[in-house]
Amino acid sequence: MKRKMFFLYTLVAVFFIASCTPHVEEEQRPKNIILMIGDGMSFAHIQAAMLASDNSANMEEFKHIGFIKTSSADAFVTDSGAAGTALATGVKTNSGVIGLDPDGNPVRSILQIADENGLSTALVASSAITHATPAPFIASQPHRGMGEAIALDFLSTDIDVFIGGGRNHFDNREDGRNLLEELEAKGYQIFYDMEEAKQITSGKLGVLVSPGSPPRYTEGRGDLLPDGTETAINIISQNPSGFFMMVEGSQIDWGAHANDIDYVVSEVLDFDRAVGRALEFAKQDGETLVIVTSDHDTGGMAIHDFDPETGEITAGWTTGGHTALIQPVLAWGPGADKFNGIYENTGVFDRMLEAYGFSKN
Ligand code: MG
Ligand code: ZN
Repeated sequence: MKRKMFFLYTLVAVFFIASCTPHVEEEQRPKNIILMIGDGMSFAHIQAAMLASDNSANMEEFKHIGFIKTSSADAFVTDSGAAGTALATGVKTNSGVIGLDPDGNPVRSILQIADENGLSTALVASSAITHATPAPFIASQPHRGMGEAIALDFLSTDIDVFIGGGRNHFDNREDGRNLLEELEAKGYQIFYDMEEAKQITSGKLGVLVSPGSPPRYTEGRGDLLPDGTETAINIISQNPSGFFMMVEGSQIDWGAHANDIDYVVSEVLDFDRAVGRALEFAKQDGETLVIVTSDHDTGGMAIHDFDPETGEITAGWTTGGHTALIQPVLAWGPGADKFNGIYENTGVFDRMLEAYGFSKN
């Protein structure tokens, strides 16, 4: 009799525990992913921006932190083309290559996979939208310098919103084609000014604010990156199936190549404001995973001193190029815990795919 009662109690306890345990996998699956890449934005670059903003950076809100190894298939120190390809497609390729494996075969990006699964998609950058970091999310070309060929690839993926510079690659081309007219024929609303474009709340949108690179933040770029991020979110978040977007703080890298601490700090802070807009949406949405990372270190920068009175940061640099230093990954939202740990840059793609629950094929 006693044994029977014990069995009964055990059974009841098991059912009780089972009914209280949340369905972890389902609850941690994001509907939307916002991948934010600070080009060349290593640890010192982030810390310098935090010092310059009274340690109040939006990036400090992230609780899940990982590190990625950034080498390309053929170089210990990567370029942004191969690093962008690794983040976008989960494949290590040769430096300078966009969206192809080392044998030259096209590889599909997380943006393209999201599109094929019925999600809305967007790219936002503070460089030309055809530049090495955004390019592998939508294009497959043997070299990053092929801006006109990369622009043509915008016609073969059904991207919803793209915002950046690089208008020349679309309407001032060697083949004489006007891709902006072709995009308009496909239903895109095309703008050349972010102030005008941010009024748009639905439909397909292309914004190209400059013929080549947009100016640096301190020279009149305005809020292209934060406003572009918010405008894209407003549009693509209307899709009940979800969305994928990539936002790049492109010019952090350029400031670091110039070993210019003021350029670096102003660009990281601009990027951090875009991170703030993404977090603001993610917090009220509850189904959005935000990932902030870097494609590689630029400058091998260290912080030697900081004067809180004047705000002056004394930086040291080891190179005018890139280095192989491991890079930070910050994650916030459902599935964020997957991004803890130390792994290859291709692991960011693998984890995004797993978080969505999509497969490569
Ligand atoms: Mg870049
Ligand atoms: Zn660079």
